[in-house]
Amino acid sequence: SSGSSTPHEDNINVVVRVRPLNNKEIKSKDESVIQFPGNGQILCEGHSDMQKAKLFSYNVVFEPGASQEDILNYSGIKRLIEMAIEGFNATVFCYGQTGSGKTHTLTGPPDLFVGKADISHPGHGLVFRSFFYLFQLLQQRQENTQFILKASFLEIYNEKVIDLLNPGAARKKPLAVRWSKKLRGFYVENLFLVDCEELDDLLAVLEEGMRNRSVGSHLMNDHSSRSHTILTVHITSEQQAENEKSVFISKQGKINFVDLAGSEMTKKTHSEGKTLEEANNINKSLMVLGYCIASLSDTRKKNGHIPYRDSQLTKLLADSLAGNGVTLMIACISPAKSNVSETINTLRYAARAKRI
Ligand code: ADP
Ligand code: MG
Repeated sequence: SSGSSTPHEDNINVVVRVRPLNNKEIKSKDESVIQFPGNGQILCEGHSDMQKAKLFSYNVVFEPGASQEDILNYSGIKRLIEMAIEGFNATVFCYGQTGSGKTHTLTGPPDLFVGKADISHPGHGLVFRSFFYLFQLLQQRQENTQFILKASFLEIYNEKVIDLLNPGAARKKPLAVRWSKKLRGFYVENLFLVDCEELDDLLAVLEEGMRNRSVGSHLMNDHSSRSHTILTVHITSEQQAENEKSVFISKQGKINFVDLAGSEMTKKTHSEGKTLEEANNINKSLMVLGYCIASLSDTRKKNGHIPYRDSQLTKLLADSLAGNGVTLMIACISPAKSNVSETINTLRYAARAKRI
């Protein structure tokens, strides 16, 4: 199948998830500044009495009562998984300030992975649920088609790529991002690609990477708010041709699950030394990402120069953001008045990604 006729509106979907007020916010009598007029809209109070409330539109809005299963069923992720099986490059990423629910949405609470996972737990996040859905689909299609799955899990910290499935080696020497003429895309040299024959193999990749990420966070204060992670599932299918049994039609697709650095880092450039360098790098990658996806939803810019090469993050997502790629952005926000400036920044960034 060819994706060339896919209308560009469908190349990127933007949804917003509003988390509930947390205990600390409730205790300190912080209030919600978010209202839900319906139809994918969000009304957010201004950040002062002088500023009017602002109305934003998206594909879907998830209110604080939304479950993890709702995100699987109504975010559009199922279509991305289906397209990845059909040979497209798909990306889902969570954007938002630290504490807004990015990691909760993607992976759920980390303690779900301690010991034997309870698969029916309502807390499991989108990655876990997507893996189940993926295997459901693969089992339905097994007849004349063979699938080969491989998974990788990496972290980008301060523009350095670390393999979360082999962190010891990589911490000494970050992995190189290179351009491949053959693949016509960027790739990470020496990145572990784990063969995943069964669902359990994919779940083990998720668990192992999560554990290694949290090891990193003990070494560095607030590590996860400063780094991006990308979990990728590569899907190769070999389908026997209808008439010619010796002919196989091969397709290669993939899906990236991306947990971005906290968006508040984009402005914290007044600190010094190492933190300044970190802030600049995060700032740059989120800005370049925003620019890339805005270009995609704007037909006039689409054929112009898109600066993928300007950050490691966008290099590695380039083949999903461009051409036949499909992208889902999940903007995560806090409803609390105390966060309203960051919330408006996130809502703007998300609205720019999708001009509805
Ligand atoms: P981030 O990854 O954006 O920094 P987290 O996902 O770690 O934020 O969320 C911060 C805290 O809020 C966590 O304790 C998380 O469990 C909680 N939380 C986030 N979203 C939700 C939600 N939709 N429902 C319940 N708790 C949530
Ligand atoms: Mg997080």
